[in-house]
Amino acid sequence: MTPGTVWIVGAGPGDPELITVKGRDLVARAGAILFAGSLVSAAALRWAPAGCEIADSKDMTLEAISAWLIGQAARHTTVVRLQTGDPALYGALIELVQPLDAAGVPVAVVPGVSSAMASAAAAVESFTLPEVTQTTIFTRVEGRTPMPAGESLRELAAHRCTLCIFLSITLLHKVEAGLREAGWPADAPMLVVHKASWPGEERIVRGTLATIKQQCREAGIVSQAMVIASPALGARAWPDLTKSKLYDAAFTHRFRKASTT
Ligand code: SAH
Repeated sequence: MTPGTVWIVGAGPGDPELITVKGRDLVARAGAILFAGSLVSAAALRWAPAGCEIADSKDMTLEAISAWLIGQAARHTTVVRLQTGDPALYGALIELVQPLDAAGVPVAVVPGVSSAMASAAAAVESFTLPEVTQTTIFTRVEGRTPMPAGESLRELAAHRCTLCIFLSITLLHKVEAGLREAGWPADAPMLVVHKASWPGEERIVRGTLATIKQQCREAGIVSQAMVIASPALGARAWPDLTKSKLYDAAFTHRFRKASTT
């Protein structure tokens, strides 16, 4: 018998409505769902069909996870592995796919809304601004996982672009040190979003490089938080914003002719 497909689905950042339509439809017809801890349980429970086998991978090893998925794929056409945010970011995706490949189980990935994007949305911020920064880096600081050469925060921050720093809320001293070493000023704006998009639980902390660690400590934020450093933060209140060329009356693009020259 040909095995079913294991769909690795981005569940989004927390709000069950932020799963994609495709992801929700797969959950709704899944024979079995394995979700990654409390972060994505809401999406699983809300859309799963009656009789679907649902398990939490919180206490499973990677071997146990792949064994569970391979076992379910032998019985069901559609097996869903739900992951937080987007599966391509800090989700052990490749480690999960390799044993499925080895077992001959077809795999497909459905992207999800990353917590980086949900954090920008929560705070009404843009990661890119004309003539300020046109680049965003997704990174983390070194914890138990070592950073490859050339990827220290000091080196990345030298670009003075937007930095979305995952998995680092308990390492804010390292964030601060890296940015300071790269020459960011003490009053550089910083943003921390805790539980972005979680209904009723989201918290937004705005501060500076000098204050953010203490502010987060006082707010008791120790997990599930995105740290954002960017020269574009707070631009909503800037009076002298450089406008994007896309909507500039003097700028012709594919869909619209310039009205002035
Ligand atoms: N694949 C996920 C990231 C998983 S790593 C994604 O695309 O979002 C886990 C880290 O993601 C956490 O340490 C935190 O930095 C961030 N994170 C996950 N959910 C979050 C949320 N709702 N709000 C803020 N940060 C979140």
